[in-house]
Amino acid sequence: MFDLIIATKNQHKILEIYPLFESRQVALKSLTDFTNFPEIIENGNSFRENARIKAHAVFAQLGAAVMADDSGLEVPVLNNEPGIFSARYAGPQADYKKNNLLLLHKMRGFSGEERRARFVCTICYKDKTREQFFTGITEGFILESFAGHGGFGYDPLFFLPELNKSFAQLSLQEKNQHSHRGKALKKLLAFLDHEIL
Ligand code: IMP
Repeated sequence: MFDLIIATKNQHKILEIYPLFESRQVALKSLTDFTNFPEIIENGNSFRENARIKAHAVFAQLGAAVMADDSGLEVPVLNNEPGIFSARYAGPQADYKKNNLLLLHKMRGFSGEERRARFVCTICYKDKTREQFFTGITEGFILESFAGHGGFGYDPLFFLPELNKSFAQLSLQEKNQHSHRGKALKKLLAFLDHEIL
């Protein structure tokens, strides 16, 4: 078994990531398996930098192979906001609801192509000798109201034209097939299969 730590406490991310490793000889752990793991300050200027900061912080503490996902939503008409601030868009006390309401507010008056958006996920994989980055991007549109109850974060507002559904209306399996995170994870899995497993 190969031990791999997922550098997150986010239960939604954990729920999406675990099934993709099911058929592999990988023993997964997340930061929820380590009591009192210190908060990691994500003060990078890009998804890549933040993913690297998280991967290095966890590797320094635990010394095992680690994958860190940093992700978010970019809306071109809002100068790519919320971007790396996706989790805290509505401020330090933000939650998913507040972030979504702020996004809806900022999107008022925009229609059609102006409502284009993309989810981006960059994974940093780090072990003793390797550091690798994998990125997945999914293009869609920001809806004018909430649709669906699944997923997390901006999922109820993110419309995927090819399935004619919001991310929050997809099964876990469908979301993994189409999402930024699923795409980045598939690249990571190909790398692990080739190099390590
Ligand atoms: P991170 O944990 O620092 O990578 O921040 C991720 C933030 O981006 C989350 O809190 C969400 O607001 C947003 N986000 C990332 N991936 C997704 C997704 O798959 N669905 C909805 N929102 C997402």
